[in-house]
Amino acid sequence: MTVYACSSNANKLKEFELAAGEIKLEPLPRLGAIAAPEETGATFEENAAIKAVYYSGFTAELVFADDSGLEVDALGGAPGVHSARYAGAGATDQANNELVLRNLGNASNREARFVCVIALARNGAVLKSFRGTVEGAILRQSRGAGGFGYDPLFFYAPLDCSLAELGPEEKFAVGHRGQAARAMCDWLREENGI
Ligand code: IMP
Repeated sequence: MTVYACSSNANKLKEFELAAGEIKLEPLPRLGAIAAPEETGATFEENAAIKAVYYSGFTAELVFADDSGLEVDALGGAPGVHSARYAGAGATDQANNELVLRNLGNASNREARFVCVIALARNGAVLKSFRGTVEGAILRQSRGAGGFGYDPLFFYAPLDCSLAELGPEEKFAVGHRGQAARAMCDWLREENGI
């Protein structure tokens, strides 16, 4: 069975593939040639659904799309669904990270979480969605060179390191995307008697 991923983010794809096992997860063919939909949702669930439903119009196969981001408690849940563009459209990871640190200042409450919602769709309808979260704290400065996005600022206490200090498999084992992807793959296996 093949399920198409509606993301061209190589880091994300690597993580999804780790969950798949015998389920074939592949990028949607010609994804790069398809204009991306506007992510106008107010929640991760809404944005994941917008993307999955939209891309399901380009194939008869199952597709899935994810929406993910960082929620910082002392920033009222920001950057949230605006994580990719927190410091402005097309912002670099570094600019986004610097803005989080600036806005958080010396706050003692540095609790934060990564959230990932995956929506699975076919023929214009969401079949099911899956949510994963990982709890952590925002460091005062970056640590580690792996991962992407806000990983260098995200301290994961159980392993005493930032997510950028973990390899892809270790991050996948504890991370939000791994949890959501494993839940989706478990559901697909059950539904298909695999
Ligand atoms: P999306 O591609 O719309 O889901 O945007 C997600 C944004 O949230 C990314 O550009 C990152 O800034 C941030 N993000 C999501 N997942 C992760 C992660 O695993 N590590 C670090 N940053 C992440």
